[in-house]
Amino acid sequence: MTNNSNPPTPCIGRLAPSPTGAQHVGNARTYLLAWLSVRLQGGQLRLRIEDIDSPRVKPWAIDETLEDLHWLGLDWDSMETDSGHGEGLSDAIVPAGVWLQTERVSIYEHYLQALLRAGRLYPCYCSRKDIEAAASAPHREDQLLRYPDTCRDRIGPSEIFPHRQSGRPSDEKSFGQDAASDRPFAWRFRSQDEVIEFDDLVCGLQSSRPHQDQGDFVIAKSNGHVAYQLAVVVDDHQMGVTEVVRGDDLIPSTFWQLEIYRAFGWTPPKFCHVPLVVGPDGRRVAKRHGDTRLSEIRRRGLGPEKLLGELAFSCGWLEGPRPIAALELLDILARFASDGLANTRQNADWQKLPRHPYVLWESTWRAILDGTAGG
Ligand SMILES: [Zn+2]
Repeated sequence: MTNNSNPPTPCIGRLAPSPTGAQHVGNARTYLLAWLSVRLQGGQLRLRIEDIDSPRVKPWAIDETLEDLHWLGLDWDSMETDSGHGEGLSDAIVPAGVWLQTERVSIYEHYLQALLRAGRLYPCYCSRKDIEAAASAPHREDQLLRYPDTCRDRIGPSEIFPHRQSGRPSDEKSFGQDAASDRPFAWRFRSQDEVIEFDDLVCGLQSSRPHQDQGDFVIAKSNGHVAYQLAVVVDDHQMGVTEVVRGDDLIPSTFWQLEIYRAFGWTPPKFCHVPLVVGPDGRRVAKRHGDTRLSEIRRRGLGPEKLLGELAFSCGWLEGPRPIAALELLDILARFASDGLANTRQNADWQKLPRHPYVLWESTWRAILDGTAGG
């Protein structure tokens, strides 16, 4: 984010829920931060549903996510150029002006082809099992597994093109399948052996050598579907996004995405990677910690104020976790800025945001569900 010494730049942020399941407390905290930041800067907030991750996407989750956002009091701005959705159920469920990634697949494929022609991709025939077997140390399931370069130099660019000439990439018969052997393959992005840096507004300067540290990444899966890393970069670029607020578990992905920005010569947005919400065991809030779905609070007929108060307190914006509506919180933070109380900041102070994960204690959650939190 900017401060007063910089000329004002139009801020465009985004909410990008993935409807692979219910939205939880952790999602709410990130959405609240993204919303506040954009609103305090007088910017525009876009909504994009990241629904290309089939079969993990649950159709009911799109509807529920939109209800959760309405309930939280977090609004967004429609894209002026949008005139509605294409065929299917989209129009019934998703309002115009909301981007659905499933409606943009041909755009992603266009950019995938461009990377392929530029020699940035190579076919990878490895299964996850192969990669695990090649990795020296045992890995946890949720741990990032560095790709061991097995297929990196197996096939040269001249050999890639012959079986790429025919058919569109969405044609699963030609795409993701080796014409000669019929073996399925994914496309991997050939990462560079150079340092990539970005100045995160929450976490400070981040630096990595993507190939060495994270390894080459999958940009199109063996089922022919474009992977998240490409879709998110193309979308953010085309939406004109200038500020990305998301969980800090995505920092390794950011280096990959910066490589894609670089490959296309696009200017990346500013990044604010915010700490995750974890359970008392230090692990990301999930089913094992009980029912922490936002819909569970809604189901009890409760408003979002107690949850929002708890979250605002966890961000250091309230002296105690008192119930508060999103607009009231925005008003308080905006007044801080105009009174000069916050060192003439015009925005939420990212540097002050605690960098450690926010621990959701069982007693806190129970109090939110009972409607008794914050007195
Ligand atoms: Zn491979």
